Amino acid sequence: MRRHHRTPVAFRPSLSRAPQRGRPLSWGVALAVSALILVGCTDDEPDPEPVAAVVVDVPRVLDRSAVVGLVPRQDSSNDPEDQRSISTVSVPGEKSLDDRLRAIADDAIADYESGISPGTANELNVTWDPVLAAGPFLGVLTTARRYTGGAHSTTISQSVYTDVASGKTYTSAELVDDVGRLRTWVADAAEKAELGRSGLPRRAATVRDLRFEPDGSLIIVLAQGEAGAEALGEVAVRVNGDAAGEALSKVGRQVQDAALEGDPFEGVPDPVDEPSAEPSTVAPATGEPQPAEADASPSEEVDCDREKCIALTFDDGPGPYTQKLLDELAAKDVNVTFFLIGGNVATQPDLVRKEVEAGHAIGNHSWDHPQLSAMSDAEIADEVDRTAAAIKDAAGVTTSLMRPPYGATNDTVASVLRDRDDAQILWNVDTEDWKNRDVQITTQRALDGAAPGAIILMHDIHPTTVQAVPGIIDALRRQGYTLVTVPQLLSGELKPGEKFFNR
Ligand SMILES: [Zn+2]
Repeated sequence: MRRHHRTPVAFRPSLSRAPQRGRPLSWGVALAVSALILVGCTDDEPDPEPVAAVVVDVPRVLDRSAVVGLVPRQDSSNDPEDQRSISTVSVPGEKSLDDRLRAIADDAIADYESGISPGTANELNVTWDPVLAAGPFLGVLTTARRYTGGAHSTTISQSVYTDVASGKTYTSAELVDDVGRLRTWVADAAEKAELGRSGLPRRAATVRDLRFEPDGSLIIVLAQGEAGAEALGEVAVRVNGDAAGEALSKVGRQVQDAALEGDPFEGVPDPVDEPSAEPSTVAPATGEPQPAEADASPSEEVDCDREKCIALTFDDGPGPYTQKLLDELAAKDVNVTFFLIGGNVATQPDLVRKEVEAGHAIGNHSWDHPQLSAMSDAEIADEVDRTAAAIKDAAGVTTSLMRPPYGATNDTVASVLRDRDDAQILWNVDTEDWKNRDVQITTQRALDGAAPGAIILMHDIHPTTVQAVPGIIDALRRQGYTLVTVPQLLSGELKPGEKFFNR
């Protein structure tokens, strides 16, 4: 497996305490328990040297839906030799996290661009996960996976911590005063665990990704090869809270306290209890007729053999401009199809619910936008299943449409999707809105490509695209087109695993 995926814990957003329950901490727990027994037996004698640092499993990240209300930001580009997906996040009304994550992404982009090999498939995937959401602190892990020159790949992970009370975001390095002590802990733990690499880890590598457990202990996560044999991948070292506290900076101790206290995160409004949506399917054209409404509902059955049908599709959301697009579409009484990124669905479930309630069709666009055609069956399945579960959680619907990121598909992707009853929905009109970022050019490309049965590719993560939509709709209608969803366009033709570019 060339990719490493962290699987989030199944954890619902009660935002109370101990969000990392159920993690496999076998190694550390075993050692901690034996240390406790030892301490318990030696009441009258001097305490034995406590186990300060032990190697443990790399902690899982929090489920994104544990911190609903953050604003995800997605950027993708799709040149055949240069495929990028940059996903970052911000706290509503808070600037420092956004700035910091963009700076990290810019560094990753510069690093990637310097390594691009012409004539091969290059890919950069920057994504994020919450690792702490307690009191005033949000901890965010960013992971930049880079593939250049075919097989060559690197992954850089780092954690940052935002204090919403002061509006500051700190790197993991800023949480530590005594890096030397952390390096010694790592070296000792690695030696005890016989990880196959001795000596102190590099300074910068030691304080790139620090996490905190609900019991206040510190987890030092080291990149592949930094504290053990390359084949081990990432290595994590756990240090008990009291010992760690002595090496932390003032801010570091504040983050540690927040983790220990486990209060709800203060940076987003309290989740409102809403009744969950009624389960239904997202293929309104093929399902039961919708309740009669005064106006002709676009989700009604349309005969695309007789009518001049065309489908607008929007990828990579939901995002900051999705609500604006929904308003525009409602004003024009048009239904479209959204191919959603699971990670963004989990962060902004309300927008997905609104898309469904407005009669739009929903499709799966993977969890974090990787090139699926370069992945194993199990990895592809994970990308698809996590996203399907997020959509179901958000809006109570199941989808049978999947659009592989970058349109990158192969027999393995087809087989995984066939097993899941998902059809592969590609496109035959590419507005290249991600590249031109221009209302006129996006409009022109959509109209130039328009033909009966066409599927038009756009992205609702770009404000210029959202601005172009009303004009595109008006122009298509003047040309006699009926705007439909993908299930309407391909009614009766959809088959699991098969590829569809148009009607
Ligand atoms: Zn995409």
